[in-house]
Amino acid sequence: NQTQTFTYNAAPARILFGAGRAAEIADELRRLECRRALILSTPAQQQLAEQIAQQLGELYGGSFTEAVMHTPVAVTEKALAYLQAQQCDSIVALGGGSTIGLGKALSLRTDLPQVVLPTTYAGSEVTAILGQTENGIKTTQRSPRILPEVVIYDVNLTLTLPPALSATSGMNALAHAVEALYAKDANPIVSLMAAEGIRALARSLPRVVAHPDDLAARSDAQYGAWLCGTCLGAVGMALHHKICHVLGGTFDLPHAPTHTVMLPHALAYNAPAAPQAMRVIADALGTDDAVRGMYALAQQLDTPLALRDIGMPGSGVARAAELVMQDAYWNPRPLEQQAIAAMLARAWAGETPA
Ligand code: NAD
Repeated sequence: NQTQTFTYNAAPARILFGAGRAAEIADELRRLECRRALILSTPAQQQLAEQIAQQLGELYGGSFTEAVMHTPVAVTEKALAYLQAQQCDSIVALGGGSTIGLGKALSLRTDLPQVVLPTTYAGSEVTAILGQTENGIKTTQRSPRILPEVVIYDVNLTLTLPPALSATSGMNALAHAVEALYAKDANPIVSLMAAEGIRALARSLPRVVAHPDDLAARSDAQYGAWLCGTCLGAVGMALHHKICHVLGGTFDLPHAPTHTVMLPHALAYNAPAAPQAMRVIADALGTDDAVRGMYALAQQLDTPLALRDIGMPGSGVARAAELVMQDAYWNPRPLEQQAIAAMLARAWAGETPA
């Protein structure tokens, strides 16, 4: 017989979801009263950038196809100079978190509107959060300027995402929903989205990995990724995200695989302190135990299961545990450096989470 207490804070969102909706980019730019759009991509997705450039016709203002991971400030400055030389008044980002990060960094500096077409499941497109690196240090900030104005989820753009990256990117999305369920500022609406996001990804990812061109499974995975990304943008993240931030920032581990390896271990660490969240996660996964269920999903998706297999030096474990304790994020279970080091050691060796 307890009463509820919560604060609900929603970011503005305009979401166009559906196969083929990339065709609506020009309409969206006109709706925003934009005349010259800068297209962003990574070198690997240059061909997609060219297709969209043709489609935009007179609204096309130029392409910058050098986006890289972790949003280095030097790359942003180069893109900014190009954007200004081309007199662009809007940004169209095509890609995963790396390309979207570049678009956000440009909007932070110019306040230009962004239309984003995500091609992974990382969720950055629906958050007002930007991580940037300079002199080897990654810093994160929030601003309403950073949040994209329009997000177009066109499933057709995800069909080329390789199975291995689909699996780890999907696990990255799951991590947002998991931590939203035990967030300090958790609220019932975001928790509904989190549970639905976990359900959608748990049922679709095995199908996506087995049949990467299964349009229905891809669409379901993208739906889940949107919900999970929205959770990331809406409430605070905890130990799992802090660990991944440290491992990515200090040891340069790849973003999505790091989330994948750590998620079951972070869940195991927090399980005793967040029983209600664990029940919701287990239900959404269709299992009776959240930790074992998440680990089984990763195994089923054939993802990396050990930090040592994704570039982590064994000698770094103690240092990583130390760094996790600095500027610590709020966490449901108090942070104990020794227990965190033990968890990291298990994750490093690829042992089952405990
Ligand atoms: P990514 O954007 O780095 O993409 C990985 C590679 O896959 C790139 O080469 C990319 O071109 C390619 N790729 C992407 N989609 C593809 C597709 N559909 N077909 C073929 N190739 C494709 O990977 P990511 O995991 O999406 O993003 C990671 C970055 O995003 C990290 O820097 C992370 O910090 C950031 N991020 C930020 C937030 C936020 O809210 N600020 C949220 C999540 C991730």
